[in-house]
Amino acid sequence: MILKHRAFSKDTMEHTPSAAQPSLREFLDKALERLRQRPSPFASLDYFYRRAGQILRPPLVTKARAEGRKVIGYYCALVPLEVIASFDAAPLRLCSGLPVMSRHGLPRDCCPLVSSSTESVNGREEISSPAIDAVVVPTVCDWKSHFAETLSGHVPTLTFQVSAKKREPSARRERLGSLTRLVHFMEDLTGRWLSRRDLWRAIQMYQKASHATRKLSELMRADPPPLRGSDLLFVMNTSFFDDIASWTEAVLQLVAEASHLKAPREVSARGVPRLLLTGAPIIWPNWNVPEVLEESGGSIVAEELCSGARVFYDPVRIDEPTLDDMLQAIAERYSLACTCPCFVPNEDRVHRNLSLVRRFAVDGVIYHNLRTCYLYQSEASVLRSAFQELGIPFLEIETDSSHEEREQLAVRIEPFIEMLRKKGHRAVG
Ligand code: SF4
Ligand code: SF4
Repeated sequence: MILKHRAFSKDTMEHTPSAAQPSLREFLDKALERLRQRPSPFASLDYFYRRAGQILRPPLVTKARAEGRKVIGYYCALVPLEVIASFDAAPLRLCSGLPVMSRHGLPRDCCPLVSSSTESVNGREEISSPAIDAVVVPTVCDWKSHFAETLSGHVPTLTFQVSAKKREPSARRERLGSLTRLVHFMEDLTGRWLSRRDLWRAIQMYQKASHATRKLSELMRADPPPLRGSDLLFVMNTSFFDDIASWTEAVLQLVAEASHLKAPREVSARGVPRLLLTGAPIIWPNWNVPEVLEESGGSIVAEELCSGARVFYDPVRIDEPTLDDMLQAIAERYSLACTCPCFVPNEDRVHRNLSLVRRFAVDGVIYHNLRTCYLYQSEASVLRSAFQELGIPFLEIETDSSHEEREQLAVRIEPFIEMLRKKGHRAVG
């Protein structure tokens, strides 16, 4: 995707991939091929494979352009999509697992979630049409805040304020203030007013996505589960760049199919250690962690990632569909119900993780840490203690989201899964 307005300046634009470095297209095709080669009984997964292959030029963008609608890039699961959709704009999540081809002036140690997303924002030669009208960036960490500043020189950018102390008395006023700024930003951009009817429609659309997500997650409670956990994560990732109504329909088809077909042994089997994958986001097409976990003999039955089921799991709950009530409910959904570690204190996150372990009969927990993310590094020890107190095996793995770390990951993961298998460990229900 290329920014519609002004590209990054020449000195920050330089990217000179070596001759040996694969292009983004080649990289994506290889990642997809690996997925498609695995046996799968579900024809309805095909929809998501197709979407994942279109990440460099999502049909969502082409369609919005043809219809004269705005495309709003956004970062992370903290941005209220209902507001964007109520202006008939297409939200496009820019967090990316693409390899970093160029740094666009960002420092070498920048969080890979931010530096990889420069590829989504500025694009490469194989992506030729302008795509994004504006960007919304939550101010959750220094990397994102600075990136927002850089972006604002190139495209209309809203820094979306997130109040870390979500349960403080002042937090209610602050989150409504942030939401109101988003509404005004969208009004300025589209030349329209926010209408009660459009917001209500958008909320209902995302409530349906939440319902489908819950049904999909619920399938994983079975022993063995009918789906690979990596497929569930993959399906959730494709929602970042898909039309949400079509995506919801496709998820419900997958649920219907998976509820009736028995998964073959290669997909899942009894006695395979059941894992909870939690921690820093894992974003397509950087699929090393889920692939290595499954290749090492584990089954990801639950995840607590802001790139997984959490994106839609909690619906916006409305008492009265008045404009004020709906805005209030949206603000609360994206703050009180959110378990991002940017909130402190964050008992909700510990509770959510522990409840997933019980509900999904998890044998062991894999905590994914990002080398550059102090939020996840700081909370890892809290979760470790909570799980250790209950005798639930916990493995912390650290990545820098580079695409060459499969072997190092396998060295850490294989013995852990072997230990779980030998132990025949099962957490108390
Ligand atoms: S961890 Fe939190 S701040 Fe980071 S991308 Fe996820 S929701 Fe956003
Ligand atoms: S993973 Fe951590 S450092 Fe990276 S963008 Fe998200 S919050 Fe910031």
